[in-house]
Amino acid sequence: MNPDDDSDRLYRMRHSAAHVLATAVLDMFPDARLGIGPPTDEGFYYDFDLPRALTPDDLTTLEAQMRTHRQADYPFEYAQHDRAEALAYFREHGQPYKVELIQDLPADETISTYTSGPFVDLCRGPHVEGTGGIGAFKLLSVAGAYWRGDERRGQLQRVYGTAFETEADLAAHLTRLEEARRRDHRTLARELDLFSINPAVGAGLVLWHPKGAQVRELLETFWREEHRRRGYDMVYSPHVGRKELWETSGHTQWFAEGLFPEMQLEHQTFINKPMNCPFHVQIFASQTRSYRDLPLRFGELGTVYRFERSGTLHGALRVRGLTQDDAHIFCRRDQFTDEVSGALDLATFIYQTFGFTDYTVELSVRDASGSAKFAGSDDLWELAEEGLLEALNRRQLAFTRVEGEAAFYGPKIDIQVADAIGRRWQLTTIQVDFNLPERFDITYEAADGTRQRPVMVHRAIFGAMERFVAVLTEHFAGAFPVWLAPVQVVLIPIADRHVDYCQTAAERLAAAGLRAQVDARAERMNRKIRDAQLQKTPYMLIAGDRDAAAGAVSVRLRSGDDLGAMSVDEFLDAVLPCIESRDPAGLGFPAGSGSAA
Ligand SMILES: [Zn+2]
Ligand SMILES: [Zn+2]
Repeated sequence: MNPDDDSDRLYRMRHSAAHVLATAVLDMFPDARLGIGPPTDEGFYYDFDLPRALTPDDLTTLEAQMRTHRQADYPFEYAQHDRAEALAYFREHGQPYKVELIQDLPADETISTYTSGPFVDLCRGPHVEGTGGIGAFKLLSVAGAYWRGDERRGQLQRVYGTAFETEADLAAHLTRLEEARRRDHRTLARELDLFSINPAVGAGLVLWHPKGAQVRELLETFWREEHRRRGYDMVYSPHVGRKELWETSGHTQWFAEGLFPEMQLEHQTFINKPMNCPFHVQIFASQTRSYRDLPLRFGELGTVYRFERSGTLHGALRVRGLTQDDAHIFCRRDQFTDEVSGALDLATFIYQTFGFTDYTVELSVRDASGSAKFAGSDDLWELAEEGLLEALNRRQLAFTRVEGEAAFYGPKIDIQVADAIGRRWQLTTIQVDFNLPERFDITYEAADGTRQRPVMVHRAIFGAMERFVAVLTEHFAGAFPVWLAPVQVVLIPIADRHVDYCQTAAERLAAAGLRAQVDARAERMNRKIRDAQLQKTPYMLIAGDRDAAAGAVSVRLRSGDDLGAMSVDEFLDAVLPCIESRDPAGLGFPAGSGSAA
């Protein structure tokens, strides 16, 4: 890249802001050693080796110093150097990390620096013209980061920041960050008592508490019912199996870094399953299959174990034990396009249920050049890709084509959904595979009596239960739709003498299929209402003397609406249809009905 490079202005502004940050850090700590400082999708960071830990106050001081350098508007000046010259400069200036970076550059690589006022950085650019062009910026946080991601090396302090063209854009971004923080599933999971991850159990391994388990069970029941309706059979398979299975499938070769360590038992080697596929293949192979039996669709909520570095784990979004909503479809070549189309239909149906209306689709194929990462013959890859294309076109789904991102055994369709605040989450994957049937040598008997290879379609709609519940928690900010709410109704007696009346009403609700609890604690009514609201319980039914005499309850919604008194039957008439239809947003009463409490 050269200084005239015309790439995205925001990217150049953020990269330039990183340099200005380093300038300010050197003002504060003249002996600071500098790591790298790149722009990112959301801002920029710079890694520093400093004599002490940075505090929030330091960030404020650094911002003020950055404003001074922005005011000075030093031009960014580009220069090329030979290796010896560059090494000498950074050695002299006490920058061992920069020296290491230069030493690791290939021999033919151009070595360049950018100078802005007092600061010189090893850098390829591009930048804005001068430090005055870095726009509106903010330093956000400090976190530990290993030099070049290597856990054996010392930790540096990574300062994160962001920059935008205008103060208004920056303010909007900070509001979005705040909104994302408010929705953080790790915080909500604790507050709503959904699930936990505990170092005593192990990093990346999720414990489902009763309320989180209730949400998951409802999702699983919905998933199973919808799959049965669409001709899937459910199967179960173990959590460990002989390593040979994944040697045959190719996972030990192509997925080696993701496997848990092996176990030796009676001269055989076992691993925790990283994928469910070989088990489902074995179920297919357990009897002679005829062309008339196909397609066979085996579904399983199968828990798999994958090694992820502790630094990459993130709440329930990125874990080491995950329950895939997996299925493998075994079909004939003339059937797989229909099967992919059916899986796309199922995925979009399921998205609707959660109010996900905006999603992006990617078709991932092999890279055209080196196919060493990918198994199988060219014509089968082409056939698989054609089928996926046809299925996408049939459903008129717009997509982008991504080269080199296919699974090792075949091309795939990935779908990302946008949540309530516009963040995109990878959920669904649908993969066509001519490869595993070959490797496991599975066949079916064709109409002409010959033995033929089935095609496999691997697919998951939610992706994984852990991740999906985390995504839903953030999407709904913990206020799950009524059908998913772990507790749907809290009954609140105004005084102790109303507890029995509430209990009787709760039994009526339970008989109608609702999850209702009586809050009989010795707390004031207002405290109980506030607690139920904090738990995002959809309905609070309050009962006092007048309600009891009239056989009624006073209904409050978690939205804050106070609907006044109604009979339990009236309440059920409004609420049950909303549960049956799995309404993603409504509470069964028109929005704004009643008076705001
Ligand atoms: Zn740079
Ligand atoms: Zn699979």
